[in-house]
Amino acid sequence: MKIKSAVFAVSNTDHAKCPSGDLPEYAFIGRSNVGKSSLINMLTSQKNLAKTSGKPGKTQLINHFLINEEWYIVDLPGYGYAKVAKSQREKFEKFISEYLLKRQQLINVFVLIDSRLEPQQIDVEFMNWCGGKEIPFSIVFTKIDKLSSSALQKNMAKYKKELQKFWTELPPIFTTSSESGFGGEKLLNYIEQINNSITSK
Ligand code: GDP
Repeated sequence: MKIKSAVFAVSNTDHAKCPSGDLPEYAFIGRSNVGKSSLINMLTSQKNLAKTSGKPGKTQLINHFLINEEWYIVDLPGYGYAKVAKSQREKFEKFISEYLLKRQQLINVFVLIDSRLEPQQIDVEFMNWCGGKEIPFSIVFTKIDKLSSSALQKNMAKYKKELQKFWTELPPIFTTSSESGFGGEKLLNYIEQINNSITSK
């Protein structure tokens, strides 16, 4: 898919106030610092569309970006920061889960995983929660430029094994590097394919 336009649409904490209309939405979520903003900027070929930050827990809003005037990238707040107060964490966990559960336009959630790490409980729990609620999701292993391909294969295998403890079928899996641009086209083509199947219905 060629990106012709990518513009910020709206930020809020209430799924009911997200854009009206029936354009398909693809949400991106992951632990803070996983490389979510960098990936969104890489996919859209923009430097600062999503705000990269060294400060965990900064983006605590649901951000909609309109792509090609046809679909939305939805940048969800990162989860799992130790430094945010529990009461605040619960508040935004609630609006994220409401968005994920209630948003009719949501087509798929891309769950970002830092490819360098061993399976993290919070990520596995989140994916199991999505699976249990029948929220379609895919896994995106980020920052693959930071490790060798054998280390990547090993880490991916560990994640798959962990998920297979709970599920017989695995979700689609992508590998990306915002540094080199690797994986961007494949991910966008995946989105395009789904968009085409929706419009041809
Ligand atoms: P976010 O908190 O999930 O939005 O993460 P950011 O996109 O702000 O990235 C966190 C840090 O990881 C930043 O220092 C980025 O430069 C770095 N980073 C993100 N993606 C990649 C990648 O694909 N490769 C490398 N080497 N670094 C990355």
